[in-house]
Amino acid sequence: MTIGVLGAGQLGRMLALAGYPLGMDFLFLDQAEGTPAHQVAPSLIGGFTDQALLGELAGRCEVVTFDWENVPAAALDALESKVRIAPPRPALATAQDRLLEKELFAGLRIPTNLNHPVDSATDLAEAVRRIGLPGVLKTRRLGYDGKGQFVLRKPADIEAAWQALGTAPLLYEQMVPFDYEVSAIGVRGQDGRFAMYPLNRNLHRDGILRLTRAPWKAPRLEAAARRVLRRVMEHFDYVGVLAIEFFVRRGHLLANEMAPRVHNSGHWTIEGAVTSQFENHLRAVAGLPLGDTAARGHSAMINLISDMPDRTRLLAEPGLYMHDYGKQPRPGRKLGHLTIVESTARRADLRAAKLMRRVDPRRS
Ligand code: AMP
Repeated sequence: MTIGVLGAGQLGRMLALAGYPLGMDFLFLDQAEGTPAHQVAPSLIGGFTDQALLGELAGRCEVVTFDWENVPAAALDALESKVRIAPPRPALATAQDRLLEKELFAGLRIPTNLNHPVDSATDLAEAVRRIGLPGVLKTRRLGYDGKGQFVLRKPADIEAAWQALGTAPLLYEQMVPFDYEVSAIGVRGQDGRFAMYPLNRNLHRDGILRLTRAPWKAPRLEAAARRVLRRVMEHFDYVGVLAIEFFVRRGHLLANEMAPRVHNSGHWTIEGAVTSQFENHLRAVAGLPLGDTAARGHSAMINLISDMPDRTRLLAEPGLYMHDYGKQPRPGRKLGHLTIVESTARRADLRAAKLMRRVDPRRS
């Protein structure tokens, strides 16, 4: 079976690497040569709205999925009548727009933080009056890893935030004084069967995920996250992996955002779960039975950002799994990750703290 993938980044690369043992083939579509996925699988190179390339992709693949949620709607319009697309388009359209996401959460009675759409300087003043300070002004579309966000702490920031972001449709959100952040990753098959990975506890800095620890043992939160995932997946008749990020505040979940794809906070599942999120996504979109989502131990995943550490020293460490996405270093860019799997949560925590100091000594 050949799986088509729109977007050929590191998520696509890890999808392909998970699919090869199952005998799957891959064909990617992305704008540039030499992308992380193109290094391990054939790719069509061109624009996401190139009709000839989309036709070729549809003709050569049994199903098309994506490793990036900002695939233009026009690409999916061209594919829709020719090939099956999974996850479903409405889930993708919702995840592309922070306002639609918040409206989805509200419609499904999923608690989320206060928010207000902003299309003018007057709207922003009104949003700040209603929700208060501090708050975060975010672009509704195309934001990732903290990009397209402006934190407002005092009234004088209103003008600066508007100057910085005011050309795009925006959303103003209450700044949540969260205790910590978690994410839930689930998978739903074509037959409606659902499985969830253990809860992840995530540490972000400057809007970028740095560290994930899993399983995060918080049974009440995990049960609540499971209900949220199921509700969203059933709403969309979803097929594939879905991730939802939450703030935890006084023992309650507040949904932040969702990703209709495999997720950075699930990378630990490659070595730390019976079936990885990548394999389960492929199983789901290919109509195969889902694999076991149980953890094999206590994992920590550390992102390698901006530059790659010395691999000779790292690989001298026993039981350390290193993933290099084959990308050129650039400040703030995710270049790879490390995973460790330990027999106890304490050992995983101690080792993760040590590794964090080593790979990012300036900031940890
Ligand atoms: P996002 O792109 O919305 O996932 O934001 C990236 C990260 O920035 C989050 O994981 C949080 O650590 C932080 N962040 C974003 N929005 C808020 C908010 N409204 N309140 C507090 N922290 C936030």
